Amino acid sequence: RPRVFSGIQPTAGSFHLGNYLGAVRQWIPLQESHDAFYSVVDLHAITVPQDPKALREATRLAAAQLLGAGLDPERCTLFVQSHVPEHTQLAWVLNCVTGFGEASRMTQFKDKSAKQGVEGTTVGLFTYPTLMAADILLYQTDQVPVGGDQRQHVELTRDLAQRVNGRYGQLFRLPSAHILKEAAKVQDLQDPLSKMSKSSSSPKGIVWMLDPPKTSAKKFRSAVTDTGTEVRYDPENKPGLSNLLTIYSALSGLSVAELEEKFDGQLYGPLKTELAELFTEWVTPIQARTREFLDDPAELDRVLATGAEKARPVAAETLTRVHEAVGFLPGL
Ligand code: ATP
Ligand code: MG
Repeated sequence: RPRVFSGIQPTAGSFHLGNYLGAVRQWIPLQESHDAFYSVVDLHAITVPQDPKALREATRLAAAQLLGAGLDPERCTLFVQSHVPEHTQLAWVLNCVTGFGEASRMTQFKDKSAKQGVEGTTVGLFTYPTLMAADILLYQTDQVPVGGDQRQHVELTRDLAQRVNGRYGQLFRLPSAHILKEAAKVQDLQDPLSKMSKSSSSPKGIVWMLDPPKTSAKKFRSAVTDTGTEVRYDPENKPGLSNLLTIYSALSGLSVAELEEKFDGQLYGPLKTELAELFTEWVTPIQARTREFLDDPAELDRVLATGAEKARPVAAETLTRVHEAVGFLPGL
């Protein structure tokens, strides 16, 4: 069976709607058709400052949300990144074949470092993409189900894999990004030109999966749109409205064209209200399932320990071949 790997950061506690619609939603069906590895990537989380207690809680919370969303540890491998030390070990080797200029071109680094300032920007944030490449390549991954913002990182991963294979022999399978056309990029509700983001969205612009649905309903109703009156998908001239149509479409299964017809001749108000109701109905059972997993932290830790046990031998096999190929002496 083809392999998939993907990860999500345990930052901020709750996932947001963009994480769910862009990434996690795809992970669930892929457990049936693929050999799936999913990771709560805590090593990535510390590229920006994290409170230790909050990080520990957020890591369990992330796992509970993934299980609540429908991941089944019997059908996929769910683990915490720091439990498999091979990730950091392979990342080092990849750092040593990555050009400084090449890494400097990553737009996520440019965006995030601009926000942190030079002194606040860590070397870890700079090398985030090579750690992500290691995550993917360790598992001989075929497909990487992610949101559209990760396309450039997956392309870098392919370039690095090809370079290493060319230099040292066939060590890595070449992965490709698996990005949904619909909802590849969910935008901030208050600033529809920016992506909804755990680290940089405005409080009113981000829809947290674990917030009381009433809070999120209000955010949908007060989402920024334009002064026009026609419900039409037009990301260039109507970015806010188009974002709402994208979300509505993803949640309802109706196409954007069907939605344009449904709301033909109406102002934006009814669409916002209906979207708020649809979201509430959809998120309520997901929240309930997440809470059930959170109520049993011992079981959660057991699931994560089992996941790490399954992931490690796969990762170790790749790492051993890489170490041998680059010329390291075999260990004792
Ligand atoms: P940060 O801003 O700190 O990077 P994030 O909101 O991007 O956080 P991540 O944990 O980095 O969250 O991303 C997890 C997954 O969610 C990735 O596959 C990413 O592509 C996807 N994703 C993140 N934001 C969005 C979005 N607005 N729309 C669609 N997918 C998204
Ligand atoms: Mg991100």
